[in-house]
Amino acid sequence: MQLVAVSVPAVMRAAELVEGGALRLVERPVPGVPDGWSPVRVRAAGVCGTELHFLEGLLDPMGIPRVLGHEIAGEVDGLRGRSPGSRAAVYNVMNCGSCRYCDTNRDRLCLRSKGMIGFTADGGFAEYVIVPERNLVPLPETVTFEAGAVLACSGMSAVHAVRLAGIGIGDPVVVNGIGGVGLMLTQVAAHAGATVLAVADDRAKLDLAQDLGARAGLVIDDPDGYEALPAAAARMLGRAPDVFFEVVGTRETMRAGFSCLAPGGSFVQIGYTRQPLDIHPGALIKNELRILTSAAGSKNDLETAIALAARGRLKAVIAGSTDLDGLEAAILSLKDRRVLGRNVVTFA
Ligand SMILES: [Zn+2]
Ligand SMILES: [Zn+2]
Repeated sequence: MQLVAVSVPAVMRAAELVEGGALRLVERPVPGVPDGWSPVRVRAAGVCGTELHFLEGLLDPMGIPRVLGHEIAGEVDGLRGRSPGSRAAVYNVMNCGSCRYCDTNRDRLCLRSKGMIGFTADGGFAEYVIVPERNLVPLPETVTFEAGAVLACSGMSAVHAVRLAGIGIGDPVVVNGIGGVGLMLTQVAAHAGATVLAVADDRAKLDLAQDLGARAGLVIDDPDGYEALPAAAARMLGRAPDVFFEVVGTRETMRAGFSCLAPGGSFVQIGYTRQPLDIHPGALIKNELRILTSAAGSKNDLETAIALAARGRLKAVIAGSTDLDGLEAAILSLKDRRVLGRNVVTFA
């Protein structure tokens, strides 16, 4: 890939994660660009539940101060020979592209991984971010920067999880948790042929999921309500589901997920909290249930998500946008689970 030099200013605004899980707005130097890397002028960066995990100390940024933000779309000069200002989404896993995991659509497990942008390397809550050139994915004009940013995490994650789950035509599945990832999972699973029951904690989220392809829906807004889920899922889907996508991760929701499944079914863990997965192996063995876990996705999963979006088949629901000053509030708003889709930080 031939890249021309991009002219960037000496300093930029950025939000840094500092000691004690606080965010600090700073002016800092735009980082130098090593060979094989490219500066990206960030136009949109999604605000993910992962940010909350960092602020709460559940994830280690491997060094502070750290610029978070792993859902990035922006402009880059000379992307694959295109003109300056080419639009791109950033694949945030810095993998080698040639090990046995990279070769089999599991790039995040790369044997020679250099970490993840917005996790262990500085990310997109800044005016510029530097990324390896091979991590740039062209973004068609028909996909907005905001949507591109969201596709770079939840869109890609949904494609990855649905592929891992091996969904078949007509399979009944449950998507538990209708946040940013759940909305994408609903759409991708439906495109893969599944009959989707969406479980949300409020009506507005459920309406969105049903608009986007869920055939059935259920609002459960307190932990005790999950006891009724197995019977309700079987009734609403016609039979017990083959796949339970768990995007919430509390004790009650995980237990309900296993109780829901048809024999031979798969529990797919995507979302999590501090609560442990607590199930006796006998309960799994009796019905040969499978536990799968899915985290982020491969570059191919991201390319697939963008291609679906470009054809109007995958919609990124943008809850709202803010500038860097509003980032902390946007992250904290995820705590009360009232965000419809994804909040995005945008840059002029
Ligand atoms: Zn994310
Ligand atoms: Zn690799």
